[in-house]
Amino acid sequence: DPRIAGISSSIRVIPDFPKPGIMFQDITTLLLDPKAFKDTIDLFVERYKGKDISVVAGIEARGFIFGPPIALAIGAKFVPMRKPNKLPETQKFPYKLVSCKEGNVIRVYIASREVISEKYSLEYGTDIMEMHVGAVQPGERALVVDDLIATGGTLCAAIKLLERVGVHVVESACVIELKELKGRERLVDKSLFVLISST
Ligand code: 5GP
Repeated sequence: DPRIAGISSSIRVIPDFPKPGIMFQDITTLLLDPKAFKDTIDLFVERYKGKDISVVAGIEARGFIFGPPIALAIGAKFVPMRKPNKLPETQKFPYKLVSCKEGNVIRVYIASREVISEKYSLEYGTDIMEMHVGAVQPGERALVVDDLIATGGTLCAAIKLLERVGVHVVESACVIELKELKGRERLVDKSLFVLISST
């Protein structure tokens, strides 16, 4: 597609960010170019329109930039997949009353979370991703969106969270794939669509 070259050239590469040796793909310059940004969204919308997708799940933070315009254009809802402790949780049943042998009634606090978490590994250490359980219903069809796939750990965690609540993940979509890191292999049988493959 002729639009890909323009998108590709709008992405800036920053050497040694955030650590020495890392060539950071900076998509903020893509956002400064209205044609490149629109072409990016259009390419995804052309692929997913009419595919019966009711959920676009965007991964914090840059999945929050690309996900919502895709969701609006295909008539799906947007569900944020967030870093830990960002989503408000309500505790509907913070405790239950239990009677003891002595006949006393005690309060036993139980965790009634409406947020579910998935731990995943990063290059160094681990991280946690969270989503609201009630945001999606079992049987819904979802698209997962992020700006970039490196090792694939982040996308895997998002897919797992959605599948744990019975959602069917149709595909994951990223602007950029860092091919050398073989994230695609980690996704095993899960479909991945990217606009730009970079070494
Ligand atoms: P993975 O879990 O696939 O190793 O890493 C992907 C996650 O890290 C994505 O959420 C992505 O936003 C972020 N990430 C890693 N490297 C880069 C990079 O070079 N550029 C950008 N924009 N994001 C990156």
